[in-house]
Amino acid sequence: MFATAEIPYIFRVITDFGNLIFCTMDALLNSFVNSALRRISACVVAVFLSCLSLLYAQEEVSAGASAPPPPESNLRKSELAELIKLDPTIRLDVRYAKSNNFVGRPLYKEERAFLQRPAAEALVRAHQNLKKHGYGLLIFDGYRPWRITKLFWDVTPAALKKFVANPKNGSRHNRGCAVDLSLFDLKTGKEVPMPSEYDEMTDRAYPTYTGGTPEQTRVRELLRAEMEKQGFTVFSIEWWHFDYKDWREYPILDIDFSEIK
Ligand SMILES: [Zn+2]
Repeated sequence: MFATAEIPYIFRVITDFGNLIFCTMDALLNSFVNSALRRISACVVAVFLSCLSLLYAQEEVSAGASAPPPPESNLRKSELAELIKLDPTIRLDVRYAKSNNFVGRPLYKEERAFLQRPAAEALVRAHQNLKKHGYGLLIFDGYRPWRITKLFWDVTPAALKKFVANPKNGSRHNRGCAVDLSLFDLKTGKEVPMPSEYDEMTDRAYPTYTGGTPEQTRVRELLRAEMEKQGFTVFSIEWWHFDYKDWREYPILDIDFSEIK
């Protein structure tokens, strides 16, 4: 079914589509059918085609999934490590544990961040190397339970779904091999301005976006270069999202932070 946040968007699409069909049919029938019959016929066709498009849109939306994908074989055993336990100088700003995220309410009970151990150790190396440049890593999110990926999919309008993972396939965050992060300034402790905000669903989020200030572009490129040296790859439409090279080797998980040993 549609999520509540989808309804205004879907309604607008359907009414626009219905109007377009009605006007087209009305114009087509204009020359050879009398006025009342012409309008009734156009109306019937518009309602019929709008219902068809509604069914199609609903199928697209529910194409997510209601349960995590089946377990794959020959994967490594999960070993999620808590980032600040490996290096307490890494800073956290886990937005999904607060209300300042795109959903508008806390989704995690605890502000904690985990990655599979080799990815977590690689992240610590990137953090240590960035210190030479005067920066540290500021973590927005790491391992994410599958149920949260499903929730993101359900509340995101169809036109913006490219910014969220389809729960049918699970995400690299669900495998504990993706991290959302930025930089903080070691002197001030403040988050460093980047060309877009975290989770901003616009072109400014692209790591190739050229419209930022020279300083914003410089720090975005520095973050990317240090992460790439440690085996991470930036996501093509989000400068803050990095996947660890071995993500395919880990299972999709749906366990709560409190269950992680
Ligand atoms: Zn991400």
